Amino acid sequence: MNIQYPNLLLKNNNHNISNLYSKDICKVSVNYIIYDKKKKNILHFGMNRPCGCNYHKPTIHAEELAINYCRHSNNRNLEIYIWRWGIKGNIKKTDCCISCTKLAEKYGYQNKIFTFDENNEKRNAIISNPELSLAYKIKYNLNH
Ligand SMILES: [Zn+2]
Repeated sequence: MNIQYPNLLLKNNNHNISNLYSKDICKVSVNYIIYDKKKKNILHFGMNRPCGCNYHKPTIHAEELAINYCRHSNNRNLEIYIWRWGIKGNIKKTDCCISCTKLAEKYGYQNKIFTFDENNEKRNAIISNPELSLAYKIKYNLNH
């Protein structure tokens, strides 16, 4: 299998993201990277793990985890990258949902959150018509 990795320029990298992918990863898991655009390295990475069988438990979105990391840091050169992996190991674009978009705006991160399109090109993850998250839709019984 050919795993596609985020197209990021990395210098002196101390984090190895090549074992971030695992075939056990739930398809809906969103991965995130905290990237220092000046030093061109990864400071932190992780993922959210929404459990498919338990939407009653509120899931913490990857963007939320990433924004929380950034706002407790003094580093002003941070960028957040989020993405999903498809079943073939391909990168899938991930847009921020409404609540994460609001959180990003609250802390001034609306221009600092990115994702990758099908060509592995950097894209803004904050879009003008964000979707409600799936958990939110289920919680409030909204139709798609
Ligand atoms: Zn979200």
